[in-house]
Amino acid sequence: MNILIVEDEHRLADSIAQLLHEEGFSTQAAYDGLVGYQYALSGVYDLIILDIMLPGKDGLSLAKAVRAAGLGTPILMLTARSAVTDRIAGLNAGADYYLPKPFDIRELLACVHTLLRRIGPQVNDLRFGNTTLDLATGILCTKQDSVRLSAKEFDIMRVLMESGACNVSKGQLLVKVWGYDSNAEENHVEVYISFLRKKLACIGSDVCIRTIRRLGYHLEVSGPC
Ligand code: CA
Repeated sequence: MNILIVEDEHRLADSIAQLLHEEGFSTQAAYDGLVGYQYALSGVYDLIILDIMLPGKDGLSLAKAVRAAGLGTPILMLTARSAVTDRIAGLNAGADYYLPKPFDIRELLACVHTLLRRIGPQVNDLRFGNTTLDLATGILCTKQDSVRLSAKEFDIMRVLMESGACNVSKGQLLVKVWGYDSNAEENHVEVYISFLRKKLACIGSDVCIRTIRRLGYHLEVSGPC
């Protein structure tokens, strides 16, 4: 899970990031509203933690702009403002939850877990065509056969199955699977996609990972490719 933290108080942003790392999340901090907005638009985050008073672009405008761009990423607003009217303004701007500063770090964690749970019902497997990815075991199977995926193959297949027929760019896969800080390059993605294609063919899958130039990859039911 990838969390974007948009907060201009560096120490607070960094301590939230550290706490979330300890909980197993990947994080990216932006100390400025405009930078935060650009990151948010990438669509690779599962949650945005957003301060209201920010240089560049304030949190309310940022939340509105993110929603206007059609992104449904959950937003947790963090702010020193705690008046009811400000909370309502935050929620109206597109925030899902409002946490007034100062907050107890356990409360922040509880909010993060609650908002992430809300993304969708817990699923045990993902399906596309005649193929199922078991999220607990990392096994990819059809009725005829099955194969265990490596950790990276699993992460990529999961993103592709969640996106289905929608294109996922190499850049999005790099961030979602390797994280922002990694030195991985686009050819790493290509290598793992080719492993996945071989494994799909091996188990008699009718799922094709289609490459669309400049747009990335999507899944189709059309036999191995
Ligand atoms: Ca601030």
